[in-house]
Amino acid sequence: MELFKNKKILLLGVANKKSIAWSIAEALSNEGAELAFTYVNEAIEKRVRPLAEELNSKIILPCDVQSDEEIENLFAELESRWGTIDGIVHSIAYADGEDLKKPFSQTSRAGFHTALDVSAYSLVAVAGKAFPLMKEKGGSIITLTYLGAQRAVPNYKVMGVAKAALEASVRYLAADLGENNIRVNALSAGPIKTLAASGIPQFRELMAKFAAAAPLKRNVTGEDVAKTALFYLSDLSSGITGETTFIDCGFNAVAL
Ligand code: NAD
Repeated sequence: MELFKNKKILLLGVANKKSIAWSIAEALSNEGAELAFTYVNEAIEKRVRPLAEELNSKIILPCDVQSDEEIENLFAELESRWGTIDGIVHSIAYADGEDLKKPFSQTSRAGFHTALDVSAYSLVAVAGKAFPLMKEKGGSIITLTYLGAQRAVPNYKVMGVAKAALEASVRYLAADLGENNIRVNALSAGPIKTLAASGIPQFRELMAKFAAAAPLKRNVTGEDVAKTALFYLSDLSSGITGETTFIDCGFNAVAL
């Protein structure tokens, strides 16, 4: 089956093979998609370039989402190389590790701003610049979120506030872009051991508690998330937008 034959998908947020965006990239490639990748800095570029080439991608571009100029350059380049885009995977988050160690009430103004800028505003900025490349044919934009947006999860702190803003942004973007058949959805994944996750104190303990309590009695995998991403990026989900979907082995559905 080639669900994504002739489809052009941009992935923001591959850092290494453990990245959730990498699992999604592999699944998309298996379904025939043409892929473009971004990297935040030179260190990440060194890891992303060979990975992208493994999936025959020829488009590997810089994009620090804190820079309007880099976002603009990214989409200008994609417009000249591809013309249009069918889908975007936004798989980016950052919070200052110091703010995650302090009590939440001691979060710094600068740390709050950075977490919201990188982890939530970036989706708005990316969707806005992608609009001209999607407005004729429609498209699908997905982002990655976490339960900490909706409940106070230990150690997630300012990142949870950023994810709440991200989930609200998904709904407002869906309302804004829907008349052009551009759909925007969030995938709320359970905890997965990645580079970003390693910045969250006691993440290993969180994973163990999660697997014990989740109805499926295990942790979620990148492949679990990737399968749902294929659904949301493809026409199989043509009637869904503005949604946040849990891919968490049912953890959000139960109480202890
Ligand atoms: P990851 O570290 O592999 O990916 C995070 C990516 O964000 C990296 O590629 C990093 O380079 C990028 N990034 C950070 N700052 C950036 C900036 N200024 N500009 C551009 N890119 C920047 O970790 P991951 O776990 O795959 O995270 C991907 C997404 O999934 C994040 O939004 C994360 O919050 C979300 N998520 C992760 C988990 C988990 O347990 N790992 C659970 C739910 C949601």
